[in-house]
Amino acid sequence: MANLVAIVGRPNVGKSTLFNRLVGHRQAIMDNESGVTRDRHYGHSEWIGKYFTVVDTGGYVVGSEDVFEGAIREQVQIALDEATVVLFVVDVDAGMTGLDEEFAQVLRQTDKPVLLVANKADTTDRHHMMGEFYALGMGDPYPISAQNGAGTGDLLDQVVSYF
Ligand code: GDP
Ligand code: MG
Repeated sequence: MANLVAIVGRPNVGKSTLFNRLVGHRQAIMDNESGVTRDRHYGHSEWIGKYFTVVDTGGYVVGSEDVFEGAIREQVQIALDEATVVLFVVDVDAGMTGLDEEFAQVLRQTDKPVLLVANKADTTDRHHMMGEFYALGMGDPYPISAQNGAGTGDLLDQVVSYF
């Protein structure tokens, strides 16, 4: 069974940007209108000689509020059924939302490793902004910037430790 890393989280936290960074830009096709990844939900990646598949579960989100509940169920289901490791992405710029708490509530029920990824920590002076996410009870957040790559090495070191 191949190692599968599932990226979950509410819309606009940067799941597709992280996916692109992990698998290479050429593998993802973005729909600029909706911010939804339309194609290539799965991509391949490698870190320190370990190979894995990444799934951007956000591709299943349609994007209106009334589908959030169904989207959460579908994303979390994929994560729990298939994933070796789950990356639960939150947005330090936007701060914590009720939807983040809903994701956390479901993700806390799995035995699989869930890493809390505090995205949009583009510079170290943004790291203090991740403090509020400790309240999710998902352990220490990994501050990263999917956009500029900051922190992604430390995150990947942890990810591949589960393979
Ligand atoms: P998704 O809906 O979770 O897939 O989020 P996207 O990857 O589509 O990103 C949503 C918005 O956040 C886009 O405008 C991205 O450019 C922006 N974004 C993603 N990652 C970062 C980041 O690390 N830093 C900053 N400043 N913006 C980011
Ligand atoms: Mg997306």
